[in-house]
Amino acid sequence: MITTVPAFTEWNRPPEDGELRLVPIGGLGEFGMNALVVHSARSLFLVDCGQLFPSDDQPGIDSIVPDFAYLEPFADRLQAVLLTHGHEDHIGALPYFLRRWPVPVYGTAFTLGLVAGKLREHGLDLDLLHPVPDYGRVSVGEGEVAAEWIPVTHSIPDACALALHTPQGVIVHSGDFKLDPEPLDGRTTGMERLRALGDAGVRLLLADSTNVQRAGRSPSEAACREGLDAAFLATQGRLVVATFSSHIHRLQTLLDLAYEHGREVLLLGRSLDRSVALARSLKRLALPDDILVDSKDAAKVAPADLLVLCTGSQGEPLSGLARLLRREVKGLALAPGDRLLLSARAIPGNEVAISRMLDEAERQGADTSTEGLGTVHVSGHGQREELADLIRAVRPRQMVPVHGTYRNLRAHGALAESLGWPRERISLLDGGQCLRLFADDRVDLPGAVPVGKCFVHEGVDHMVDARVVQDRLILQEDGVVFATLLVDSATGDLAAEPTILSRGFVMLSDDETYGELLRGVARQAFEAAPPDVRKDPEALREAIRQALRRIIRKTTQTRPLVVPVLLDAPQ
Ligand SMILES: [Zn+2]
Ligand SMILES: [Zn+2]
Repeated sequence: MITTVPAFTEWNRPPEDGELRLVPIGGLGEFGMNALVVHSARSLFLVDCGQLFPSDDQPGIDSIVPDFAYLEPFADRLQAVLLTHGHEDHIGALPYFLRRWPVPVYGTAFTLGLVAGKLREHGLDLDLLHPVPDYGRVSVGEGEVAAEWIPVTHSIPDACALALHTPQGVIVHSGDFKLDPEPLDGRTTGMERLRALGDAGVRLLLADSTNVQRAGRSPSEAACREGLDAAFLATQGRLVVATFSSHIHRLQTLLDLAYEHGREVLLLGRSLDRSVALARSLKRLALPDDILVDSKDAAKVAPADLLVLCTGSQGEPLSGLARLLRREVKGLALAPGDRLLLSARAIPGNEVAISRMLDEAERQGADTSTEGLGTVHVSGHGQREELADLIRAVRPRQMVPVHGTYRNLRAHGALAESLGWPRERISLLDGGQCLRLFADDRVDLPGAVPVGKCFVHEGVDHMVDARVVQDRLILQEDGVVFATLLVDSATGDLAAEPTILSRGFVMLSDDETYGELLRGVARQAFEAAPPDVRKDPEALREAIRQALRRIIRKTTQTRPLVVPVLLDAPQ
């Protein structure tokens, strides 16, 4: 991320009495990796700890988590993590965070149930998890701050906004929310409580900006039922529906419809099994006992009597849907008459993978069109009218848009302005930009603290340096060139002509004269090196690398990875 915000040079000094710092170390100017540090002289805690899913230009990376550098100087003071809800962009970095800082984690039951699954996988201590009921309170920082969980409607059960009662006033963090008047579980957004907080005075509102560019209100989750029902009616063969595994209300609608239409249900995907089991154990999902069918029995069910619920709406290669399309689910293959329906939005960046997947389903004979079905998906994030409702209910002295691209944050600021909030009471923050509230009503923006991204390669359960990701990109684009130089250690001269080997590089596969050119350049670079460089292998390799890179760039306009290797010649 390029940020033009000047540095907050004194960030590593603890806050003074009366000073409260809010430091967004992720989630601003991007979707994902939501994490906000709240820091005063006595309190230090995190609101959410999310991950970002990697894009095509981060090959081999499974997950991206925030760089927690800001916390290092204050490491022994860290007190807790407070969670708004269980989506990956809010909880996904927790295993990596808790390994370094095993502090108590607070959140609602469904949220912590999802977190528990992750901690188990990483061998971490479940005793760190402390469930909080709706409207429950937790005190942090030796009682300096009281945090309160206020229910909101969203695309996952148990989502909450947080009200932080601090000496600097009440801070409301909306979490991800919409104002659904008729949620499936009847658990509506706690607007009364939010309004009461507004009446008493709210110092700061941090609010979800995801759908600020959409006018009006987001349709209720209940609006999907009709479109999904139409899909059942329009399908003669198997109906396959991909959605997010944590979207329990969507699953409930689909299970209810399956029951009404006399279809048995196969769950396909590990995360789906887990989240359905969790939701049932917490009574967030109700289903008739005998509606689920085992994957080994699914082939025996007549196509017209089967609903396949699966993960993979984003084209993920390891998902249930991807396995089905690769015919890796025994006895089950798509056929003419079947229908594949995505009941989810395409997360930006996944469009190509999704399109490829739909194509494959059609190739196998299934119908993937949604024409004439009506609404089969609604967003879990509120639109402009809902965002305006929240601002008007809370009436904050200061407003900070969060959760969105910089474009969204600006549009959300403009919305607040259009509602009568003066510009100086709206703060647009970029990633890492600190906002300070003082006890005497002052607010300031002292600059940005160090922030960044850490890359996780799960196979080796290892943090990957950004340079490694950069190297992988270069390899992918332009390949690699190795130059091996055999050195006579007695004389310090070359013992043989250099050898050049390459992989994925455009020129060397069949062009002997080009190999000759590079060998010559490597030799010249070696021989032209002054005596002090000759004696320093690091400097010598760098000189050869530079010479080869220059000639390759000049002759081919490409920039492969160049790796010089110096070897002592056997005596
Ligand atoms: Zn969410
Ligand atoms: Zn989110």
